[in-house]
Amino acid sequence: MHRLRFWRGKGIHLSVIFTAVVVLSVTLTAALNTIVGFEAQKDSLSRNTLELNQITANELSVAVDTIFDSMTQSLNSASAHFSISENRVKEAAKWLDFVRGSMSFFNSLALVDESGKITAASPDNGDLVGQVLKSAASKQALTERKPLVSEPYVAVTNRLIVLVSQPIFDGDGTYRGFICGTIYLHGSNVLDKILGKQGPNLNGSYYYVVDKKGNIIYHPEKIRIGDNVASNPAVAEIMAGKGGHMKLVNTKGVPMLSGYAIVPSVQWGIVSQTPAATVTDSVRGIVARMALVSMPFILLLALLVIGVSHRLAFPLRRLAVYASLLNKGETDKVPALRLRHHLIYEANELNRAVIDAFRVMGDRTEALSLEAQTDALTGLHNRRFFDSLLASWDRQQMPYAVVLMDLDRFKSVNDTYGHLKGDEVLRFLAARLIAGKRDGDYACRYGGEEFVLLLPYGDKELAYQLAENIRIALMVEDAPIGKPVTLSLGVASYPEDGASAAEVVHCADLALYQAKEKGRNRSVMYAASIQSNP
Ligand code: GH3
Ligand code: MG
Ligand code: MG
Repeated sequence: MHRLRFWRGKGIHLSVIFTAVVVLSVTLTAALNTIVGFEAQKDSLSRNTLELNQITANELSVAVDTIFDSMTQSLNSASAHFSISENRVKEAAKWLDFVRGSMSFFNSLALVDESGKITAASPDNGDLVGQVLKSAASKQALTERKPLVSEPYVAVTNRLIVLVSQPIFDGDGTYRGFICGTIYLHGSNVLDKILGKQGPNLNGSYYYVVDKKGNIIYHPEKIRIGDNVASNPAVAEIMAGKGGHMKLVNTKGVPMLSGYAIVPSVQWGIVSQTPAATVTDSVRGIVARMALVSMPFILLLALLVIGVSHRLAFPLRRLAVYASLLNKGETDKVPALRLRHHLIYEANELNRAVIDAFRVMGDRTEALSLEAQTDALTGLHNRRFFDSLLASWDRQQMPYAVVLMDLDRFKSVNDTYGHLKGDEVLRFLAARLIAGKRDGDYACRYGGEEFVLLLPYGDKELAYQLAENIRIALMVEDAPIGKPVTLSLGVASYPEDGASAAEVVHCADLALYQAKEKGRNRSVMYAASIQSNP
């Protein structure tokens, strides 16, 4: 039972401490590993993501650059076509339709003369032709007379557009205006065809395009197109003409892992980015799975440690049991605790030593108690033994008879033959008592030359008979003084003569006294008459 309780008010079980220490250290190690693993995973995944975003940005920049090359070429060939003045008048709109339809780079195309007036348009919704362009982009095209890509601006059509233009010179080099194509930034356009194709990414990654001033040209959230994000660190790099990757916090305050690249032909920039939280979340997921997988192993280890520590602590626990037995004085139970072989050498040695010590202690205690209850001169039980035996019988109300005896004229034996001879006589008498008593009777030395026999379950008649037998045997045998000694004896019994040992012994004493009175060398059975008339 006590094994189940680890706290017994006297301290913690050793096995509990073992288990706690091991489980704690294993858990701490696992936790530490997890934290370190988490950071390492996060670092490597962040690095990979940054690099992947840069690769994406580079690839997209190549794609956009290629498209712009083709756009420029197609405008170039259109410009060559319109360098012939006849072509500028005859079926110009049809030609524009053809160019727009075959390439589908531009949302619209227009032929503009040197005064800025639109002379043909595709699609031609009727009201464009004849209008004079007033936008900064068209004015710049007219004055600079070279291929241009404009910043985003709101055109006469009220659309946010980018204008790509190519000057037209006729055969003798006279400037004849320009041909321009527009990209409707909010509408479905050529950039959608390249970039939108990639689709939204599950992990939250996306990319956007800015022009060299930091205006958004393309963004998966259409509403952001036209915004200026020059304050974004990646965009700032792009505006400085550099590609690369970095961790940054975007203009909306979201931490991002960004890769970015320049589109050489137009000096635009492409930013491909992933929210940093995506990486943290996925690493957290990995780590949680790792922890889940390792949990059964930790539990198994804990069970193993509990088992082993229980075994390790066993000998100590057993020694504690021995010690408590010793405390309670139950040393006799110790040899019953067998020595079991234990796995640990020291435990075996300790066990053996303790068991031996207990055995020796037990033997010694036994000897001491025997010594304490034995008379040194005669080897009979002593007065202490007599008293405790009678007390115990008293408690059990056990019936018995008692024969109290005293040597006759012993003083004169001592006086005549010396004290040593007297001792010999006492030993002689002890031997006669042992020989004369029944098995199960107790012979004790009561005092100096007084002895007593205790007869369990014996009645007074029986005791008297025994007393007489001893007395008569003594009369016919020479004692160590060369002649017989005689005894006077008094007999009483429980419960006839008294309600307690003290009363019964007192009665035997009275009977003995009467035997002396009546001339010695006789046995007297106690009777009530003695009490009243001693
Ligand atoms: P009574 O017949 O009246 O008993 O006469 P008694 O001389 O025996 O008288 P009592 O019983 O009073 O004397 C006891 C004597 O026993 C006194 C003492 O010298 C002697 N005695 C007591 N103990 C020892 C002992 O251990 N050794 C020896 N040698 N003598 C002892
Ligand atoms: Mg005496
Ligand atoms: Mg005497």
